[in-house]
Amino acid sequence: MNQYNHFIQGEHTAASERQQPIFNPATGEQSGQVSLASAAEAEAAIRQAKAAFPAWRDTTPLSRARILFKFKALIEQHTDELAELITREHGKVFDDAKGELTRGLEVVEFACGIPHLLKGEHTENVGRAVDGWSVNQPLGVVAGITPFNFPAMVPMWMFPIAIATGNTFVLKPSEKNPGVPMRLAELLKEAGLPDGVFNVVNGDKEAVDVLLTHQDIEAVSFVGSTPIAEYIYSTASNAGKRVQALGGAKNHMVVMPDADLDQTVSALMGAAYGSAGERCMAISVAVAVGDVGDQLIEKLKPQVENLKIGNGLEGGMEMGPLISKEHRTKVVGYVDSGIAEGAELVVDGRNHTVDGHESGYFVGGTLFDKVSTDMTIYKEEIFGPVLCVVRAPDYQTAVKMINDHEYGNGTAVFTRDGDTARQFANEIQVGMVGINVPIPVPMAFHSFGGWKRSLFGPLHMHGPDGVRFYTRKKAITARWPTGIRTANEQNAGFVMPTMK
Ligand code: NAD
Repeated sequence: MNQYNHFIQGEHTAASERQQPIFNPATGEQSGQVSLASAAEAEAAIRQAKAAFPAWRDTTPLSRARILFKFKALIEQHTDELAELITREHGKVFDDAKGELTRGLEVVEFACGIPHLLKGEHTENVGRAVDGWSVNQPLGVVAGITPFNFPAMVPMWMFPIAIATGNTFVLKPSEKNPGVPMRLAELLKEAGLPDGVFNVVNGDKEAVDVLLTHQDIEAVSFVGSTPIAEYIYSTASNAGKRVQALGGAKNHMVVMPDADLDQTVSALMGAAYGSAGERCMAISVAVAVGDVGDQLIEKLKPQVENLKIGNGLEGGMEMGPLISKEHRTKVVGYVDSGIAEGAELVVDGRNHTVDGHESGYFVGGTLFDKVSTDMTIYKEEIFGPVLCVVRAPDYQTAVKMINDHEYGNGTAVFTRDGDTARQFANEIQVGMVGINVPIPVPMAFHSFGGWKRSLFGPLHMHGPDGVRFYTRKKAITARWPTGIRTANEQNAGFVMPTMK
């Protein structure tokens, strides 16, 4: 049984009064428990982060980058151990967990370039003998609050850039799977990060509310569901913090009649059912344009029925369980509602069981056809292995459907026609767009973020926006009166200086 407490000032703390169990989703067995921080414990982390800030701010960007280079090497060295921990506490299959780590590592690699990224701008002679320049300075103590579905990658979207730019950090990871974030804290310490620069506070709303309102927190990065993102954005903004709050999603893939259907179906399978659909960039709606719908369903059905579902630590699996028993019940409830509201259930995953794992939180791949835009399964984020196929008579109807949806995280178009693809990328009201790419997650050196109710705040995560989010610009204008230089020239001395 793992006991997770908090990691403050470079040390594991004692257990909190309140505890919550952690489960292995593949077996349904309890694997540990996590401390839920009190307000006083969250305040203690902020205090230590504040105390560590002045020295860390004054460290050179180059030395901060060198610590991150060591951290990168440690993650590479511990990849299998970290990926196994992700699978045990999240459920996603082992190779997918490794993929998540790689995507997080890429942000560390980006942050290793911080000496270059922090450079400001300089203009000589903004006025006669006056120079102007800008510098990018850290904010102070910043906080990150992260979801269960990427326990490594999402914290790594935030803290590498936050600490590289000279801030100190308090992370409040998901209470469902805190194992990996705690391990990352240990590895940062091993890489040479000074105590107090990176702290982990485990917990729930009690700890989060302290981070949102505490006078010593300068900025809050959040990733999670939309209702909580909205709460985080309004509460922390009202308290005067800089906030980026990423929320939920309903990502559509438009399948044009000219698309290569075999490629499209194989892309859809990975994008809809990978990680059991628990990805904010999962495709949960396929929009079949024109007469492509019947063929699409015909090709999808056998593949959905034959998904390899099981314990993610066993080789050859394509999909693991959902995160919790409660979430399983919720997903099954959505499937029930789809049937009740008149969608056509093509593959039913509700009663799927895995031999030897009867208590695991598995739902089989589920496929609906003839879903309409007024149905609950179309409107709401299910966050499970449920793909809805909607039929659209033409391209314009497909685009309008996506643009009318409350979420705007990711989308994709599958077509062989460049003009359609170009037009789609231009007019779609979504933050991340794939052209024959089902999950268009931008690389670490670009920024990640959705539109509409998928993101609250002006700046996206990581990449150039990450550097902007965690720094404040200062513009300096300087004029130096003539004095010493001319005085020295006038009094130039050519004899050996002696004490006068
Ligand atoms: P969640 O919103 O339930 O929890 C996210 C974080 O908020 C956790 O740390 C949790 O402890 C905290 N939290 C929960 N309720 C709170 C409350 N009432 N007050 C204060 N804090 C609270 O999300 P989740 O279930 O962990 O993650 C799944 C959601 O995250 C999905 O909606 C998914 O789309 C979204 N997500 C979005 C992105 C993105 O980039 N847009 C990425 C990953 C996940």
